Amino acid sequence: MENYYSTRDINDKVSFSKGVTRGLSPIGGLYVPENFTQIDIFNEKYTKMNYQDLATDILSNFLIGFSTDEVNQFVNKAYNTNFETDNIVPIKTCDNVNFLELFRGPTLAFKDMALQILPEFMVASAKKEGINDEIVVLTATSGDTGKAALEGFANKDGIKIIVFFPTDGVSEVQRMQMITQLGENTHVVAIKGNFDDAQSGVKEIFNDKDFANLMKLNNKVFSSANSINIGRLVPQIVYYFHGYFELVRKNEIKNGEKVNIAVPTGNFGNILASYYAFKMGLPVNKFICASNVNNVLTDFLNTGIYDINRKFETTISPSMDILISSNLERFLESLDRKNDKLINNLMDSLKNSGKYELPEDLKSKLSPFFGGFTSDEETKVTIKEVYEKYNYVIDTHTAVAYKVYKDYVTKSGDSKTKTLLAATASPFKFSRAVIESITNEPQNSFNDFQLVEKLSEITGLSIPHGANNLNKKKIIHSTVIEVKDMKKSISDFLNLK
Ligand SMILES: *Cc1c(COP(=O)(O)O)cnc(C)c1O
Repeated sequence: MENYYSTRDINDKVSFSKGVTRGLSPIGGLYVPENFTQIDIFNEKYTKMNYQDLATDILSNFLIGFSTDEVNQFVNKAYNTNFETDNIVPIKTCDNVNFLELFRGPTLAFKDMALQILPEFMVASAKKEGINDEIVVLTATSGDTGKAALEGFANKDGIKIIVFFPTDGVSEVQRMQMITQLGENTHVVAIKGNFDDAQSGVKEIFNDKDFANLMKLNNKVFSSANSINIGRLVPQIVYYFHGYFELVRKNEIKNGEKVNIAVPTGNFGNILASYYAFKMGLPVNKFICASNVNNVLTDFLNTGIYDINRKFETTISPSMDILISSNLERFLESLDRKNDKLINNLMDSLKNSGKYELPEDLKSKLSPFFGGFTSDEETKVTIKEVYEKYNYVIDTHTAVAYKVYKDYVTKSGDSKTKTLLAATASPFKFSRAVIESITNEPQNSFNDFQLVEKLSEITGLSIPHGANNLNKKKIIHSTVIEVKDMKKSISDFLNLK
C-alpha cells in the first residue's frame, strides 16, 4: 500500500516501509501521509488505554502493511522500563497549563519518543522491502538527536549508526552522553567545526553517487534518523492524543472540549505532529509555536514570509537554534494538498534567495497558529517564576514555550482554554542555565557534572538515570577529525573495500 507521497513529486509514492528505509525522497522531498484516519475520540476505549495501547492503536493507521501484532511488538520494545516513569508521558498541571513530560526516556529529551521506536520500524521495514544490505544510519547532531539515535540504534541487528558532532557545539553533558556510548555497531566522531559543517558534510556524503556505489559494492546502504524521516514523525502524534485523554481522565476537560497546544519549536517536527493529530480529530483551539531569538517561524506565522537572511544566534535553548526548519515543508504541503509545483517553487526560492512568500490565498490558513519568541533573559525569569509559583522545575526549552503561551494569553484574552504544553527536556540536561535562573547567580566555578548534583540538592529532585555519574563512565569514542576527513572516517569504520 503506497499511501505516502513526496512533497515535491506526488507521483513519487511509497509504502511506509519504503519511506522509512529511504529517509528522504530521492529527488529531495519529504514523504507525507496521503490520508489522515479519523480517530473517534468519544469511543470509550480511548480513555481506558495506557500509553502503549494508545500508541498501537494510533500507529496502526500509519503502518499500513504491518499487522496490529507487529505494531504492538514495536511499541512494547520502545516504551518500557527504559522510561523512568510507569506512565511513559506523565502530566504536570499548573493552573491552566498542563506540561506533557516528554523527557522521561533514556536521553532526557523528547527525541526519545520517536528514536526509541524508529529502529524497530527500520529493521522490520528493511526486511519487508527485501533489503539485504546493511543499513548505515548517518547523523549530524547539535546534541540531543545524536545521543537519542545512538541509544535507539545501539546493538540493533543489520544496522550501524554513525554520529558526527561539532567539538565545540555541544554541552559537556551531551558530549559525555555520546562518547561513552556502548555498542559494537556505534561510531561517534567529533569534527573540528560547527554544527553547519557537520550537517553539510553529512548531506554531501548522502548525495555522493560514487560513495553510494562503493557502499553498494560492500552490501551497505545509507539511511537517516533525522526528523525528515516519516518514521520519526508519526510516533510524535501519539502523545498529543495521550495528553488529551489524560486531561479527560483527570476531569480537567470534558471529552470534545478544545485545548491549546504550545510547543518549543526548532525544526517544526514536534508541532507538526500536533497538527497531524488535529487533522485526525483532536479538538484544538490554537497552536502556539514558540521560538527563541532565532525567530524565523514567528515572522513566518505573522506575515506568511519565511526569510532566513538574518544573523544566527546561540542561546540557552540550543536545540531550537535553527534557521531552516525542515519539517515546515510538510506543513506547507498540508495548506494546499498535492500542490507539488507550489512546494518546488517555494523551496527553489528558499535555496536561491533564502526567502519565500506564501501566495495570498494561503496566508489566511495560518490563523490556527500563534507565533511568538523570547529572549534568554525572559526565559530565565520564566524558569524562576514557575519554580517559585508551582515548585516545578522546567528546562530552558520548555520555559520558552511557557513564556510565549503567557504572551498569547495577554494578546488574545484567552485565559480559559486548557493548554497542553510540550515539556521537551529534563532540567538536568541544562542544569547550568536552570540553576543560574533559579538562584540569579553565575555558576562559572562549577563544571556541568557538579551542576547536575547541585540542581538535585537545590530542588530535592533525584538525578535521572541518564544524567547520573556521567563523568565516571568510560570514554569509548575519542576520535576528533577535520571536516574533510568525514568520508574516510566512515570508510574506515565500515571497512569499505
Ligand atoms: C529537538 C528539540 C526541540 C525542537 O523540536 P522540533 O521538532 O525540531 O521543532 C525542542 N526542545 C528540545 C529539548 C529538543 O531536543
